[in-house]
Amino acid sequence: MSAFTKLIKDQKKQASKKKNRFNLEANTNANRVGLYCACGSKKSYKLCCSRIHKNIYLATSPLALMKSRYVAFVMGDIDFLMLSHHSSTRPDQEKDEILRWTQSINWSNLEITEVVPVHQQEGFVSFKASYTDKDVPHVIYEKSRFVIENNHWTYIDGIHF
Ligand SMILES: [Zn+2]
Repeated sequence: MSAFTKLIKDQKKQASKKKNRFNLEANTNANRVGLYCACGSKKSYKLCCSRIHKNIYLATSPLALMKSRYVAFVMGDIDFLMLSHHSSTRPDQEKDEILRWTQSINWSNLEITEVVPVHQQEGFVSFKASYTDKDVPHVIYEKSRFVIENNHWTYIDGIHF
């Protein structure tokens, strides 16, 4: 490797390190206007999932609802998490517990791994959601199922891996 190639490589490494740091920061500060939305869209929260949090009908696909639910977890928006949950499986009893849990951890990343095309008002999205709990890293792998209720998409259940 020439000295020049090495220099370019080192610079790239530095740049990607910086980028990762920025993303992490953006994810944990989703509510600050001007930074990227925690869903990973590279748009500000205000122009992205905030619109869906204010009007669930704007989530026109399972993927859009999935992303907005992740952001609601990041921001502790328990009302949106309940609203976007199908009534047959909605964890009303655990509402406070879920809120306490999501506020006690640090969400760090959402990665969508598979989107199954919608068929007969049912759709599936697989994802990896990463967080740290008291500095211990965790990853949730799930294939979520979404169905329509009250004319908007809702999360109904999921398979954990
Ligand atoms: Zn978003």
